[in-house]
Amino acid sequence: MTFSQILLVVLFVTRAVSEVEAQNFTAERQQMVKEIDAMVAATERATGVAKLDERVREAMSVVPRHEFVPAPARSSAYRNRPLPIGKGQTISQPFIVALMTELLQLEKTGKVLEVGTGSGYQAAILSLLARDVYTIEIVPSLAKAAQATLGRLGYGNVHTSVGDGYLGWPEQAPFDAIIVTAAPDHIPPELVKQLRTGGKMVIPVGTSRQELMVLTKNANGTTSMRTVAPVTFVPLTR
Ligand code: SAH
Repeated sequence: MTFSQILLVVLFVTRAVSEVEAQNFTAERQQMVKEIDAMVAATERATGVAKLDERVREAMSVVPRHEFVPAPARSSAYRNRPLPIGKGQTISQPFIVALMTELLQLEKTGKVLEVGTGSGYQAAILSLLARDVYTIEIVPSLAKAAQATLGRLGYGNVHTSVGDGYLGWPEQAPFDAIIVTAAPDHIPPELVKQLRTGGKMVIPVGTSRQELMVLTKNANGTTSMRTVAPVTFVPLTR
């Protein structure tokens, strides 16, 4: 065989392998969505969510989670569980991502704030359901990696920033929805201020025991709170 023939064979095999891989991931992603559906149905009594909105389901079916996890974890990317993303942080369990997204009740014209960019996966899901996503990460290397991934995959309506998300993003307020993906021990008052009237904030609150909460900002300036489910998130650091 000549060198160019060998090269052709290598190219062919590489392409065949990556095609199979891509197909497998599509199938695995569909399987993941089915598992999420089952978990949503099984937890309805606690969460009040019987079924995912079709748009949320669609977003979960198309965003390539394997692109957001470190290479060694790729083969586990579509298991319904959290995965390490480095710096002691984790990408949330897909069921939790879907549930939190559902609870935000996003509109395509809306502006969302995420605190805790992590891998950027949740931001990518949000970007398909809102006009603009503003996401803040306190660990610079994670923010940089997430920004690169989101850019490479073409999620152009996600705006990233490095900083303390406890303080929100006042220049871009008010937000139609706010999602916090690290747990503070109390609701950050600045985030409530930056939420528009009628908007929802979905946030895990607590230290050793955390509860996922939905806060709604009412017209008279008061807030209503609902406890959804016990959860485990990394702490919100200051
Ligand atoms: N939403 C992420 C997962 C979040 S893990 C994803 O889809 O991958 C929680 C993230 O919150 C971590 O990356 C952590 O570094 C970050 N974090 C913790 N405290 C923070 C703070 N005060 N402001 C912004 N980000 C914070």
